[in-house]
Amino acid sequence: MGLKGSKMAPATSLGKTKWFQTSKKEDNSRFIWIYGNPTIKSGCYEFHPDLQDHIEEAFLAKKKTCKVSVFGTVWTLDLKNMKESKESAPPNSKKLKCIGVAGAKYAKTSGFQQSDDICAVCYDPSTIPTRIEICGHIFCFLCLKTNYILGNGCPTCRGGIPNSMFDKPIRADIDFDIECPSEYAVDCVKMLGPEPRKSERGSSEKYYWIYESNRSGWFRYDPKTEYFIEKNFKRKNKSCEVFICGHKMTINFKKGTQEIQGRIIKRKIKRIAASDIYKQHDLRGIAGIRTLNFPIS
Ligand SMILES: [Zn+2]
Ligand SMILES: [Zn+2]
Repeated sequence: MGLKGSKMAPATSLGKTKWFQTSKKEDNSRFIWIYGNPTIKSGCYEFHPDLQDHIEEAFLAKKKTCKVSVFGTVWTLDLKNMKESKESAPPNSKKLKCIGVAGAKYAKTSGFQQSDDICAVCYDPSTIPTRIEICGHIFCFLCLKTNYILGNGCPTCRGGIPNSMFDKPIRADIDFDIECPSEYAVDCVKMLGPEPRKSERGSSEKYYWIYESNRSGWFRYDPKTEYFIEKNFKRKNKSCEVFICGHKMTINFKKGTQEIQGRIIKRKIKRIAASDIYKQHDLRGIAGIRTLNFPIS
């Protein structure tokens, strides 16, 4: 990575992590903020790209602390303590071991970028493209997860799907504002009939549908499910039914809940203006994947 240690200090307010620091990329002399302990085996991570400028600006403005939301958890970065201990010996740059971005390992992130590849399960361009590392086949995250839950292997080659892929997944390569594929949108509108006349004022505002996670915090629905929910909402339907990972769920607009049919479990859901997502500090990501990091103050 060519990272060069420059400033380092204990950051007690960082929760589980022991250290954070800035490092310099030798090629373009840009500072990169990282966290974790770079000198121990577990290594450290770059802060999410969406936080880098915010932390650097707070540091340059000599702020004592700055706040960021990391996958729905508020972290207070103690910039003052870091500055005070600037005189302590910086870590040996050769020992700096940066292993990923925002908790996602470099190796697991590369090649995951959004692509126009058609998913062999739903035949739409992959939504949240997800690659099985062993065989390299790529599908929509939820198409693959559904397959996994059903106990099946890779839909293309029938190879294994590692359990770790769906165990509290973290991804640093997904934009929060990814859109529903237009192919699906067209089918969806055909299925639901013509859209009502635009009556809402300022209807150009973009909205997200989010649900409360059973581990606390909120996630945006995957863009296809969200599109279907929004189209039903716009048609003033009282409820609609969606399939998520093989479960039939009822979205109840009046109660603001998502219910699995035949079970008592309910989740809170809500519609949130795109411009308001940064007020929802416990918003973690999309479709159960922790993806979202943003500055708070
Ligand atoms: Zn798919
Ligand atoms: Zn495969």
